[in-house]
Amino acid sequence: MVKAIVGANWGDEGKGKVTDLLAEQSDVVIRFQGGANAGHTIINGYGRFALHTLPSGVFYPHVTNVIGNGVALDIAKLAGELEEIQAQGVPAPNVIVSDRAQLLMPYHILQDTYEEARLGGRAFGSTKSGIAPFYSDKYAKTGIQVCDLFDEPRLRDRLTAAVELKNVLFQHLYHQPPVDAEQLLAQLLVQREQIRPYVGDTVAFVHQALKEGKTILLEGQLGSMKDPDLGIFPMTTSSHTLAGYGCVGASVPPTAIEDVICVTKAYSSCVGSQTEPFVSEVAGEAGDELRRRGGDRGEFGATTGRPRRVGWFDAVATRYGCMVQGATQAALTCLDVLGYLDEIPVCVGYDIDGTVTDSFPTTPALLRARPVFQTLPGWKCGIRGCTDYSALPANAQAYVDFLEQRIGVPITMVSTGPKREEMTCRTPKI
Ligand code: GDP
Repeated sequence: MVKAIVGANWGDEGKGKVTDLLAEQSDVVIRFQGGANAGHTIINGYGRFALHTLPSGVFYPHVTNVIGNGVALDIAKLAGELEEIQAQGVPAPNVIVSDRAQLLMPYHILQDTYEEARLGGRAFGSTKSGIAPFYSDKYAKTGIQVCDLFDEPRLRDRLTAAVELKNVLFQHLYHQPPVDAEQLLAQLLVQREQIRPYVGDTVAFVHQALKEGKTILLEGQLGSMKDPDLGIFPMTTSSHTLAGYGCVGASVPPTAIEDVICVTKAYSSCVGSQTEPFVSEVAGEAGDELRRRGGDRGEFGATTGRPRRVGWFDAVATRYGCMVQGATQAALTCLDVLGYLDEIPVCVGYDIDGTVTDSFPTTPALLRARPVFQTLPGWKCGIRGCTDYSALPANAQAYVDFLEQRIGVPITMVSTGPKREEMTCRTPKI
């Protein structure tokens, strides 16, 4: 059976922690979309890790970790990450890289960087990891698949054709030097040897694993709000962040996904540009304090170190985010962070041109939305590390009950700290 672990919001919800925890009872963990543009923070017996490309099952020797065909594969980053985790004492993990995955090339990173500079104040706040150009090339059919690495004449042809197009852009739109196809080819042939031991037919592997009754986790990157179709377009990412895309990016049959665990934080955070609508944002000193106290080391990007914008829990966005994921259950993280507050506002509606709604709107209306808050009493004590849900203060439990009612999805896990074991199980009330 397949369980998807995906984000209900803007990403950084704590999917890595939940995946690391659930991987213990699983056989396979698959990354099915995105690239090294976001990081999953994991804190376990081996230390603290920010995984960008590797699936979060790499800490268990019994887990096979698949980099699915839907991923933007940056070989240098993958090789670096494999080295890093082993240097921190993690045994060499079982990894299979799909032979159908496509390669994130140095020219994608250049194009992303040049384009952000060209856009100036209108930029999307890209991490400049090359993700948008990568996926554009995939759909324009100029991308290069991992399997192409093992057919040199084909690789040279495809690379030459891609570089021809890039160089027109680089020289004439961005006024930058051209890239050299032969130099890139030489680099790719070196990288090919780095990933050769990991490359395989992940489609056959996944279908065989299902036949054998194995448990497979799909590990999502970013969250519903960043999906190019159902998210806040165009402040989205360039791959589908929804569990449903696992059917393509990990090649699991749609009927095999039995469980969709939506991860959401007890407050909101959002990376990206300042122009992105973020209705429940907390500004000023109160925002600075929440940012400082959030996550495991404050709310700063795991990949970029950028300060994340923070806000109160947005029940409108989260209910929509869970709905489009098809959530069967929700995991609430970072409840411990809110213990300093006398009262906790929750965004329960959007006021759009004088009409209050709890339906999540399209971008033009979202840009005009003002938050409608309902305030709940705080619990004013530390709960970090608590592993027994019934031992949580009554107001903390009441806060979780309220969020569950509002999002309409059973909350089954409540996380009380960044470490693997800092988790409680909850019996849902809906
Ligand atoms: P992901 O991309 O969804 O895996 O999330 P990130 O790793 O980017 O961000 C989540 C942040 O919250 C990280 O700093 C985690 O260590 C941290 N975190 C996860 N769960 C908890 C929790 O329950 N409490 C606290 N304080 N931090 C948490």
